[in-house]
Amino acid sequence: EEEIPEDHPRYQDLLTRHRIEKGVEKGITHLQGMHAEGRGSAFDYLLGEETIPSADAAERAAAAHLLLADRPVLSINGNVAALVPGEMAELADATGADLEVNLFNRTEERIRAIADHLREHGAEDVKGLEADARIPNLDHQRAKVDEDGIYAADVVLVPLEDGDRAEALDEMGKTEIVIDLNPLSRSPQVADVPIVDNIIRAVPNVTAHARELADADESELEAIVEEFDREGALEEAEDRIRSGEL
Ligand code: ATP
Ligand code: MG
Repeated sequence: EEEIPEDHPRYQDLLTRHRIEKGVEKGITHLQGMHAEGRGSAFDYLLGEETIPSADAAERAAAAHLLLADRPVLSINGNVAALVPGEMAELADATGADLEVNLFNRTEERIRAIADHLREHGAEDVKGLEADARIPNLDHQRAKVDEDGIYAADVVLVPLEDGDRAEALDEMGKTEIVIDLNPLSRSPQVADVPIVDNIIRAVPNVTAHARELADADESELEAIVEEFDREGALEEAEDRIRSGEL
């Protein structure tokens, strides 16, 4: 990461790509993660590579949901682990959520490598190795989750999630928070809280909101959740992308 000069106009994008490359080399990110990264990068360019106001509102609503939850879980895949391992550990710490490794291309080896990687970045307890429950209506490999993790969670944060699994989690009745730079993708479309922002900016900002709201009472948190406008947030992101105004 030291090789990329910080004043480079595409610094953040280069850094992101570099982290995915390292993730592939380290065996924590699947090669297909590079494709997902490329799609994300294109949308981020069109958004102006910044957190737009509706994304900030979504990040605050996400923090309120996580603080109100009985059993909040943050889902980690290979791209998330490569891009924001320490930041996810901090968010778990700020909200009392559990971390669970959940992979689209699941192998036990990669799950273990990701769990180790998260612990190297400050995570304490990492779930996802038990895989003793199944999400209904998904094929076997994609359905595997921990019984006392995602399966039992009331609020789940699923960044960069595949559309089928996002739909299946929604059908389970969970409050779903999605981080995805493409507002037209199925995952943000089914989310209770769609965060259309780069995960690199989004996660630290959810944590900052959670820290700021740590002493808020329940009614204040509930008001933030109520006031959040999910359709408006999706529209504002799409308008921004289509406008071509950078
Ligand atoms: P589907 O319609 O099945 O969801 P997809 O084209 O959305 O397919 P996926 O691999 O399922 O592809 O999802 C990757 C998603 O993650 C893309 O929508 C992409 O924009 C988004 N993405 C990639 N990198 C980032 C990032 N750094 N921050 C936020 N979102 C990202
Ligand atoms: Mg998608």
